[in-house]
Amino acid sequence: MEPVHIIGGGLAGSEAAWQIAEAGVPVVIHEMRPVRGTEAHKTEGLAELVCSNSFRSDDSESNAVGQLHWEMRRLGSLIMAKGDAHQVPAGGALAVDRDGFSQGVTAALEAHPLVTIDRGEIAGLPPAEWDNVVIATGPLTSPALADGIRSLTGEDSLAFFDAIAPIVHFDSIDMDTAWFQSRYDKAGPGGTGADYINCPLDRDQYEVFIDALLAAEKTEFKEWEGTPYFDGCLPIEVMAERGRETLRWGPMKPVGLTNKHNPTVKAYAVVQLRQDNALGTLFNMTGFQTKLKYGEQSRIFRLIPGLQNAEFARLGGIHRNTYLNSPKLLDDRLRLKADQRLRFAGQITGCEGYVESAATGLLAGRMAAAERLGRDLPLPPATTALGALVNHITGGHIVTIDEGPRSFQPMNINFGLFPHPDQAVTHGPDGKRLKGPAKSVARKQALTARAKVEMDAWANGVEAKAAE
Ligand SMILES: Cc1cc2nc3c(=O)[nH]c(=O)nc-3n(C[C@H](O)[C@H](O)[C@H](O)COP(=O)(O)OP(=O)(O)OC[C@H]3O[C@@H](n4cnc5c(N)ncnc54)[C@H](O)[C@@H]3O)c2cc1C
Repeated sequence: MEPVHIIGGGLAGSEAAWQIAEAGVPVVIHEMRPVRGTEAHKTEGLAELVCSNSFRSDDSESNAVGQLHWEMRRLGSLIMAKGDAHQVPAGGALAVDRDGFSQGVTAALEAHPLVTIDRGEIAGLPPAEWDNVVIATGPLTSPALADGIRSLTGEDSLAFFDAIAPIVHFDSIDMDTAWFQSRYDKAGPGGTGADYINCPLDRDQYEVFIDALLAAEKTEFKEWEGTPYFDGCLPIEVMAERGRETLRWGPMKPVGLTNKHNPTVKAYAVVQLRQDNALGTLFNMTGFQTKLKYGEQSRIFRLIPGLQNAEFARLGGIHRNTYLNSPKLLDDRLRLKADQRLRFAGQITGCEGYVESAATGLLAGRMAAAERLGRDLPLPPATTALGALVNHITGGHIVTIDEGPRSFQPMNINFGLFPHPDQAVTHGPDGKRLKGPAKSVARKQALTARAKVEMDAWANGVEAKAAE
């Protein structure tokens, strides 16, 4: 049987290779280290963790990444098995001994009879005779391969930096203060004239907000990242440094809007949020890309009227990050529409984080193996964490016309990507009406309980098919 080729032996590539080999299909991992390095990796080990040693929360009942851990364990993930084997104490989080973990993953793959590890860079598009390829080269994909990919996808479809504005859970926005309206009620293509959520600030609130921005702690760029500011993408704190009024003439301009809660008073500034996913559960803060430290972001953005109780699905950031405009370029099997022998996995698809990268590797690996074996692999339901994540990457994110191809920004797994619970969660097991945090926890528990049942059913179905 011809092998599947994987380019990149990081979190995603290692997991994909394991899944392919365990399905009985030969696989070659092409990893450029140590022949050629990246700016962040320090070893030649597979699945090297380049920064933190944490896989985040391991709580599979009320945390979305914990649920993803659960699903990956259920599906025989190598990354989770080695993470568990090399765990270090970290409270409710799963943190690992990074060297032991990477060595464990490398040894398992080296020992597998169907895995070959080939050290060397793939410096351009893969050879035409490779008919089943997984590209998992991560945020620091080598320039020669990135150029090859761009020749297939077009200039704008492969970004080299992300510019992430914070994303807020809709149900945490105070709609007694904020209101829906598009500027000048313009409907635009696909719009209704009431597409944005608007949060009004009076003069005093604006001045307090600007003072907070100017005083806040910022994250520095690493030397090798450079300073990737480009037109239309300045961090808000840099705009504030250029002048106290700059934001009021930029992303916070109050024009074309009437506060429906207080129509006679003109807002001094307005923060707009735009729907981010098809489910309508997530809204991004328009034009609010930022390098503020995470703690500062939560504190300062909650100064904005309407966002005082905001829960953030993800906070803002700007990083060196090579990733595709996946909702446009990939089909629901993670294959490039323009060349279906190429499948993508990991951070380059626009997921974010070690666990998410490994999770997309897991699914891409299973898809590649199924294709080689001539089997059909149904997609995991969108009600599971794995299904919700891949669904967001390949179609769940809304690509807006006015923002162009860059509106898709990398995303962690979070409950905003899951479809609503089948029934509204209003009462606890004791029959009492739920409020505040207890209601939010009960909702999360309903989502993870449903995800477990559906993932189990999906995995059982796939296993039964494979045994036929
Ligand atoms: C500086 C930095 C810090 C990060 N910190 C965190 C963090 O703390 N927590 C977190 O959850 N996420 C973090 N991330 C994000 C992300 O989770 C990691 O980058 C993660 O390793 C992505 O997994 P991956 O498999 O997609 O890519 P990687 O793990 O980077 O694997 C890609 C592999 O492909 C190889 N490669 C690249 N080009 C080629 C080529 N042409 N031919 C052959 N091989 C190639 C690379 O050497 C690398 O081994 C960070 C990212 C960066 C850049």
